[in-house]
Amino acid sequence: MIYPITVYGDPVLRKITTDIERDHEGLEELINDMFETMYNADGVGLAGPQIGLTKRVFVVDLSPLGEEDPLLRDFKKAFINARIIEKSGEEELMEEGCLSIPGIHEKVYRKNHIRIQYFDENWNENDEEYTGYPARVLQHEYDHLDGVMFVDHCTPLKRRLLKGKLTDISKGKTNATYRIKIPKA
Ligand SMILES: [Zn+2]
Repeated sequence: MIYPITVYGDPVLRKITTDIERDHEGLEELINDMFETMYNADGVGLAGPQIGLTKRVFVVDLSPLGEEDPLLRDFKKAFINARIIEKSGEEELMEEGCLSIPGIHEKVYRKNHIRIQYFDENWNENDEEYTGYPARVLQHEYDHLDGVMFVDHCTPLKRRLLKGKLTDISKGKTNATYRIKIPKA
């Protein structure tokens, strides 16, 4: 099932999410639906709040980049109850976009190395470290679990310049190629 994607201005994107319970009903289906929704929108990552779910879950698929970077060849993962326990390395400036902010791409700074602990869809516990692009994507998705969006990392000046476009998005004025859920006025 493909969910409509929540967009900037929807309060659900500003909520702090809660852990998924072990007996969460339909978890496998939820994960499959999140991947399907993400692929349909040509995204590389999708977090719970983006389908209106205030739970600590996100999915990421970087495997299409496996040709450039063999480490990413099998990188199709669900992250349940993730905790980033360390951010380190250099502050790196890289362009980001977000399915919940269609049409806007901006460069933001993030640390280029992280350590993350999480459960996969089979409740196997993982403790992994990432550098560079995967660290970037995981921090972006992880932010969604805490109600943070990538434009929050832009400078105040940049945010002021984006304000009009963000307001348009919150009113449903976007040219997104996928179905969105327009926030209530
Ligand atoms: Zn996003």
